[in-house]
Amino acid sequence: MHAARQKPLECAKFLGGDGGLSNFLASALDSVRRSAIDAARRALPQRCELCAASSGDCIVCAECLRELPWLKEVCPVCSLPTSSGEVCGQCLADPPAFDSTIAACAYAFPVDRLIHAFKYQGRLALAEWCADAILAARKTRPSVRPARLVALPLSRERQRERACNQAAEIARALGARIGVELLTDGVRRIRATPPQAALPWTERARNVRGAFACDADMSGLAIAVVDDVMTTGATLAEFAKTLKAAGALRVENWVVARTLPSER
Ligand SMILES: [Zn+2]
Ligand SMILES: [Zn+2]
Repeated sequence: MHAARQKPLECAKFLGGDGGLSNFLASALDSVRRSAIDAARRALPQRCELCAASSGDCIVCAECLRELPWLKEVCPVCSLPTSSGEVCGQCLADPPAFDSTIAACAYAFPVDRLIHAFKYQGRLALAEWCADAILAARKTRPSVRPARLVALPLSRERQRERACNQAAEIARALGARIGVELLTDGVRRIRATPPQAALPWTERARNVRGAFACDADMSGLAIAVVDDVMTTGATLAEFAKTLKAAGALRVENWVVARTLPSER
């Protein structure tokens, strides 16, 4: 019954900057692909990704959705919890290059399971769920309408390992929902960095320094950078710095989940 959901979707490489297809053709194909998936989803009853109960046309059932660790009162800049939604001490003392972060949930059970299934078990239909979670969170936070969406770029090596860039899949779903152009050319990761997870937190900013390049003219644009999980924020801060150096006026991070200090 899940044949339509399990069918591998075209990957970022095929539709995006590395491929031979023009952006126009890619976006036309993308919208055809999305309508087909949406139609298939409506036609087939779903099972909740978390509890396997019947969930109508939803990927996660209403009951499981209610139980997720949604973030509420958070620092608008880095999305870590603060007592009444004020800017946190860390962001006041040492403001990052990005202006704000929309994070839907804490990176904790069972959101970690959903993201794992998305990233490592090829459950690409979860990109749609991730996009919805981000947009739901965005309604409750200060956010400006971006001129462009950009997925946090993976290095070529990482991209090859994973076949697809999941951030690009979420960004594509977001772009289709809010009608904002997804920028796939002109931003790239120029240096593969050791996995951040292997490093102490204090070394992560140094590890990603100079990791990105941007050839696109971002002058005066508000950009939303899409990723699945924000851990320390060091990588997103470095990417925001690159976008600002290319002229971006404002950079917002749009992520599904935020690692909390207690989980580190
Ligand atoms: Zn459920
Ligand atoms: Zn903060």
